[in-house]
Amino acid sequence: MAAMKLFIVATPIGNLGDITVRALEILRAVDWIACEDTRHSRRLLDHYGIQTACFALHEHNEREATARLMTYLTCGQQVALISDAGTPGISDPGARAVAVVRAAGFPVVPIPGPNAAMAAWSASGLSDERFLFVGFLPAKAVARRKELDQLAGLPAALVFYESPHRVAQTVLDMVATLDASREIVMARELTKCFEEIVRCPLSQAVDWLSENEHRQRGEFVLIVSGPTQDREGDGQADRVLNLLLEEGLPVKQAAKLAANITGAAKNDLYQKALEFKHAINT
Ligand code: SAM
Repeated sequence: MAAMKLFIVATPIGNLGDITVRALEILRAVDWIACEDTRHSRRLLDHYGIQTACFALHEHNEREATARLMTYLTCGQQVALISDAGTPGISDPGARAVAVVRAAGFPVVPIPGPNAAMAAWSASGLSDERFLFVGFLPAKAVARRKELDQLAGLPAALVFYESPHRVAQTVLDMVATLDASREIVMARELTKCFEEIVRCPLSQAVDWLSENEHRQRGEFVLIVSGPTQDREGDGQADRVLNLLLEEGLPVKQAAKLAANITGAAKNDLYQKALEFKHAINT
């Protein structure tokens, strides 16, 4: 480790055994570890007997902590950056620090490892050629549905992170905005004791989540398969219908207008409008 570098080190997403040999070597060898939460990371570091000094770098202090990190590099000290779980910079802090360090001309070295989205994708069995990593949807319902509307037509599977207290509502919003016959993979508590990975049509996902009280606990990755070629027309009609309903049009009128605009069958759209309306009101 001659030139001063910033190492971006991936850490476990649950099972402490999921850390690479290289990650452990780096965490032992550097002078400082910038942690999203020093107390949280202490458990991992203690588990491996790593005594390297730590300081906090999180979304609320990223500017000052990055300045501190830069001082260490400038003084000839090596630094590693870790987040609470998985890969830093992926729905986690790190991007600002990396940008500043790179702009100052110091090398930034990724030490790859666990990531919840990739773990879920690898076990999903979905065969879409492409997927889009969306991460967290907005917390507010209107913004969340708007974003889902925008994603609905993309010819790719969609990968989301979601918190346990919002997962059921988010799935309902997906039913209302995406073609409900698309498949969903719900990956819960990956690498932990109560890991569960289930794949079903989107329309059945809420039933699965409601089947027992444990199913809405823990951490979730949700993956929705991409629209199939012959479903793309349906997806378009669904989106138009959904927008009209959200604008407050009555079910019958929304179905008629959506049918006129897209050429889809009015009766089918009327049935869907009733389902969407039910999902919107739940
Ligand atoms: N940087 C992390 C990564 O590389 O996966 C993600 C951090 S983000 C703040 C936390 C979210 O990732 C959780 O809300 C959940 O959606 C997902 N996640 C993290 N660990 C998980 C796990 N063990 N099982 C399922 N999802 C997980």
